[in-house]
Order: sequence, then C-alpha cells, then structure tokens
Amino acid sequence: MKKKCIFLDRDGVLNVDRVDYVYRMEDFIIPKGVPEALIALKEAGYLLVVITNQSGIAKGLYERKHVFAIHEAIQKACGGVLDDLYFCPYHENFDSRSLTRKPGSLLIEKAAAKYQVDFNLSFMVGDHERDIIAGTRAGLRTIRLAPEGEETNATFVVRDLLEASQLILKS
Ligand SMILES: [Mg+2]
Repeated sequence: MKKKCIFLDRDGVLNVDRVDYVYRMEDFIIPKGVPEALIALKEAGYLLVVITNQSGIAKGLYERKHVFAIHEAIQKACGGVLDDLYFCPYHENFDSRSLTRKPGSLLIEKAAAKYQVDFNLSFMVGDHERDIIAGTRAGLRTIRLAPEGEETNATFVVRDLLEASQLILKS
C-alpha cells in the first residue's frame, strides 16, 4: 500500500535558520512546538522525510558529517521520529548544477519512489519559495512557513510547524 508522507525542509522549519548556515552544535536551536508537531504527525501515520539544500558543503564551509550530526540532534530532541534525510550538497556556482537542489524536485521523487509515497495524501513543508516550487513540481500540496502577507504559490501559509501539523491533521 502507498504511504502518506510529510516532506520537510530543515533550516527554518525543524531548526532556527541563520544566514551563515547551521552546522555547529552551538548554532542549533529547535523552535518551540517542533517536537510536538513531528510526534503528532508520526502518530497520525505519516512518514517524515527531510529534504534539505546543504550547499555549504559545495562552498567548503562544512562537511557531510556535520549534516548527519545536526540530523542526529534533531532526532534526539524529537524522539527519533524522522524516517529519512535527503540532502543536496551541490551548488551551481561552486561545483555543479543538480536537479537534487531545490527548487529541483529530484530528492522528493527519489524518496517517494523508495517509500512508495501517495502524493495525493502528502505535503511539502518549507519556509522558502524554492521549497514550495520543488513540492509543486513533484505534485504535492505545499505549506509555506511565512509571515502573514508573504507572496507565495503555496497551497497553505502558516506561521510555524506546529500550525502546519494542525492543518495537516485536519485535512
Ligand atoms: Mg529553509
């Protein structure tokens, strides 16, 4: 049977984003409501898959192991509910162009193929328009975390992941 899945952007959704990348543990902060949101979605039967651009690797700022360390820290804070992590280390100005980099949808499609995801029951959640474009390209409904009044093509706009989870659970 096909499964329902929430595809999650990482920075700005699961942890507080910053302009110069999150790869040091001291910069890693989980906003209020994130563990509760993820646990509620998991209990409702959703797969939880992180889809994240990590071009700081292409830029030589950090390495893959830092991405895995942050992922483990999120898992630790959220009861290990995340099912998988897909990240794009590339950047067109530093190493190579890649369809795995959002707004490309290839990582979503890879994960969807592996886990037999039913797109009609699934969502992409992100805080940037490139997340929304990637989700739309894959055929998903999209939820943008943004301030009120933000210009977006997302299906829904909410303030944070907790509000996103409440919206999903009502759908
Ligand atoms: Mg983000």
